[in-house]
Amino acid sequence: MTSPSSSHFLRERIHDDLSRGVVSSVVTRFPPEPNGFLHIGHAKSICLNFGLAQEFGGRCHLRFDDTNPEKEDPLFVAAIQEDVRWLGFDWGHHLYHASDYFERLYQFAVELIEKGKAYVCHLSAEELRATRGTLTEPGIESPYRNRSVAENLDLFARMRAGEFDEGACTLRAKIDMTSPNLNMRDPVLYRILKRPHQNTGDAWCIYPTYDFAHGLSDALEGVTHSICTLEFADHKPLYDWLLEQLDVPCHPQQIEFNRLNLTYTVTSKRKLKTLVERGIVAGWDDPRMPTLSGLRRRGVPPAAIREFVERIGVSRSESCVDMALLESCIREELDRTAPRALAVLKPLRLVVTSYPEDHEEIFLLPNHPKDPSLGTREVPFCRELWIEAEDFTLTPPKGFRRLSPGREVRLRGAYLVTCTGIETDALGQVTTVLCTHDPASRGGDAPDGRNVGATLHWVSARHAIPLTVRLYDRLFTAEHPGTERDFLEEIHPSSLEVCHGFGEPGLATCAPESRFQWERLGFFCADRVDHSPNQPTFNRIIGLRDSWAKKTARQR
Ligand code: ATP
Ligand code: MG
Repeated sequence: MTSPSSSHFLRERIHDDLSRGVVSSVVTRFPPEPNGFLHIGHAKSICLNFGLAQEFGGRCHLRFDDTNPEKEDPLFVAAIQEDVRWLGFDWGHHLYHASDYFERLYQFAVELIEKGKAYVCHLSAEELRATRGTLTEPGIESPYRNRSVAENLDLFARMRAGEFDEGACTLRAKIDMTSPNLNMRDPVLYRILKRPHQNTGDAWCIYPTYDFAHGLSDALEGVTHSICTLEFADHKPLYDWLLEQLDVPCHPQQIEFNRLNLTYTVTSKRKLKTLVERGIVAGWDDPRMPTLSGLRRRGVPPAAIREFVERIGVSRSESCVDMALLESCIREELDRTAPRALAVLKPLRLVVTSYPEDHEEIFLLPNHPKDPSLGTREVPFCRELWIEAEDFTLTPPKGFRRLSPGREVRLRGAYLVTCTGIETDALGQVTTVLCTHDPASRGGDAPDGRNVGATLHWVSARHAIPLTVRLYDRLFTAEHPGTERDFLEEIHPSSLEVCHGFGEPGLATCAPESRFQWERLGFFCADRVDHSPNQPTFNRIIGLRDSWAKKTARQR
């Protein structure tokens, strides 16, 4: 179902650079900071960076942008690698860490000092802010700005040696305190942080800033196109300035694109972290999370995410994409690929009184209505079945085509049955629906082509296996969480409902992460963690139709 690649400015730019000989091959990189799990927004960046490299016969590096030891964790490093692979991309042996370059970055800083382009500054963080100026007022030069090269070299070496406390000094670029771009007003390149680092341990107590490390890491790796989100556009002059001052192997081009925002969810690591830390969700991989591991756990196929990213395209203007578009990519992919199965979420007993008590038979049902290559499966049938409680009513409203007294319906692939009576409990609740079957309708076809009511899903009570099924819904009720109220007040109160149903026997032995369409119910996935033959556990990936379209229309 992958759409033919449509052209966008990044594709055109790379194509042009290659055909004009500006570059001889394409090298991109995906540079996550390991301070959380990847989310659907990152998927866009991954698909662009890895996808474009692949398309143009180049390569893409996975680089951990780990310059801030305070928030980073090896747990996130491992999760990010797993998620990128799951999405279908491979960095080969090009796995890097910005921290791998700490020694070389330090040497670049020394080179900058030697060129008179950087200085050690003793202003506090507060003083730095106060002297930075504003968009309308220039900044004020630091009193430490005109120290000698020798003094700066000495001080910087002592920063590295741990002689100063955190916050006592920084290394700053010497650019222009009157620049209209605040990023060019003598930005901080190094700060002192006496914290162990997830990759380099206690080796360092000074750490480069993102701005210093990023472009130089790109240059060290021979990156040609450094593709990033629009918020970095203001940093580009600094990116280029550093590469121009220093003796670097190449000068990569930073190109910005619009980030992915999605309705009914949040794509900010900080907010996602809050949901996890407050226990609002069960973890980073909670199936309601827009994280890649959450989407995976929910059962979303990676191909659906790649297709979604292709369809939303790339531009240079900020926008917010409708969640319904992601959901429809998921439905389309699953409709094409997921085998069908029968399961009942809220069971009601049905007894076929005309069917012999000790008799059983096996029906051969196709796994997919349109794809015979998916084969068939054996589904057992007997006198006692489970049907969906809501498929029966004593008092059918107008237009109700399902089961009610006197009505004939089709049991998918089995028989036509007619309701002849009910059994109730002491409270008058229906406990059992009694039916007779038409033996001539074996396989579910009316022998005389007569008109019958709806086709119902069912499972044999004698053979069915009990299922735990988690019905997930969108995590937020607001279209743009956090814009009118605190995003935590806009959590969907019933985004998770757990049911205990029954399914055809094969569902017990399917592998974790197997995906199905349960007829008439939606798409379901055997939970990656909790599913086992002894405890079949499934997640609803998505319903068959968009149930939010109506709700949203009503709200408007
Ligand atoms: P967040 O804003 O969620 O904290 P981040 O940008 O700080 O994310 P990084 O780990 O720095 O997270 O992101 C790695 C790469 O992914 C960056 O190049 C960034 O531009 C890109 N990226 C992050 N969020 C999005 C998004 N919503 N859409 C597209 N690309 C994104
Ligand atoms: Mg970032």
